[in-house]
Amino acid sequence: MSDLLERLRGRGWRLTSQRRVVAEVLDGEHVHLTADEVHARAAGRLPEISRATVYNTLGELVALGEVLEVATDGRAKRYDPNAHRAHQHLVCSGCGAIRDVHPHGDPLAALPAAERFGFAVATAEVTYRGLCPDCRP
Ligand SMILES: [Zn+2]
Ligand SMILES: [Zn+2]
Repeated sequence: MSDLLERLRGRGWRLTSQRRVVAEVLDGEHVHLTADEVHARAAGRLPEISRATVYNTLGELVALGEVLEVATDGRAKRYDPNAHRAHQHLVCSGCGAIRDVHPHGDPLAALPAAERFGFAVATAEVTYRGLCPDCRP
């Protein structure tokens, strides 16, 4: 069983066949799929699954904190099941490929107190950009 399915089962999430397929599609490393991609893959396994069901299920998974919504650029939001290990993203400016990366140090700590303007800063997102090996000249 996948990590995500296991976590959901542990939380007592009602696992219908449709929800299960969405969770299975989202399992793995470096997974950052758009809702349409999740729907296309889910429909490959369960042809009757509707786009609305996929969208609703993704919304629930995000609300549960089990899946992250990632917006790396002007492209469509992506869904990332790696919600329990803090990570940042490396994005190819050519093809849009995304990798999960783990920089040294805490990006929150990198912001000096003088630059916090009294905010209680809770999270930080860092996006590294460049060309992936396939897109490099
Ligand atoms: Zn690329
Ligand atoms: Zn990620």
